[in-house]
Amino acid sequence: MSATIVARHLTKRYGDRDVVHDVTFEVSPGSIFGFLGPNGSGKSTTIKMLCGLVEPNAGQASVNGFDVKTQSPQVRRSIGYMSQSFSLYGDLTVRENLQFYGRAYGLDAGRRLGRAEEVSALTGLGPYAAQLAQTLSGGWKQRLALACALLHEPAVLFLDEPTAGIDPVARRALWDLLFNLAGKGMTLFVTTHYMDEAERCSALGYIYDGDLIALGTLDELRSLPHVDPPGTVRYRVTVDRIMPAFAQAQKLPYMRDVTIFGRDLHCLVEQGITSERLRADLIEAAGTIDSVDRIGPSIEDVFVALTRARAAA
Ligand code: ADP
Repeated sequence: MSATIVARHLTKRYGDRDVVHDVTFEVSPGSIFGFLGPNGSGKSTTIKMLCGLVEPNAGQASVNGFDVKTQSPQVRRSIGYMSQSFSLYGDLTVRENLQFYGRAYGLDAGRRLGRAEEVSALTGLGPYAAQLAQTLSGGWKQRLALACALLHEPAVLFLDEPTAGIDPVARRALWDLLFNLAGKGMTLFVTTHYMDEAERCSALGYIYDGDLIALGTLDELRSLPHVDPPGTVRYRVTVDRIMPAFAQAQKLPYMRDVTIFGRDLHCLVEQGITSERLRADLIEAAGTIDSVDRIGPSIEDVFVALTRARAAA
């Protein structure tokens, strides 16, 4: 099946700087593509080019088969875009916001009402129809924004940090909804800072300073040589006294990298170092060691490793 989103050598220049540089990727239909990267790395600019809102300086892109440069009205009609600054009208009710956006999308009166019902049912907003948008919690505001972006039944949905600033329960509820949409065949393009959200995506791209430095499934990224260096082994060590154990771990000559996760140390050590050796070298500082287990890189390890490798280069 042909890709729903295709970007080829996409480049955007502001002044003399490429804020998006030679970015190439594809997103297949019905998948959730996670687009990650530090602040200012070019995520929003990429989305805006794909939505036909910002013209690329070089390269091409198509969405739903429409060229973003020459067919931007068709692109915009076939996509939903929930931007970071998506503005709901606080002094309008939920129902009135849906009607307002339905009109903005050019839906006729009958379809506006029908679609408002459908997206309300989908997002669970039904009981809040008469409530002023400004009185909704952060999570429900995001769901209303999502409902508005879905009114015209787009085939592709772009979401720019949809869960920024909402609580974990609301975050999960929103992700359940996104899975639901993908299950119905919609293609989703999502930017996020949350590593657990990245784990839910079918494929990932990582952009750093305008360059797409990694692209693939999570398992593919985990086995990149920067992330899983040949000649190393990763252990999770669960300890009683985390800070002294961390300080001690940093001093060990075979320790390539060490990070704290709650009560665990994630240690990247030279091959040949056994779990018994690591335990023996940490026990005095750690007080008690509950377990030492071989592990693979976490998604956070993946992005830390990629970012460091890139910064070093
Ligand atoms: P992200 O979404 O990853 O945080 P952005 O795409 O918003 O990153 O921005 C990438 C870079 O481009 C930033 O350095 C930003 O300041 C710059 N930038 C974005 N939009 C403009 C613009 N309209 N004019 C000039 N610079 C811009």
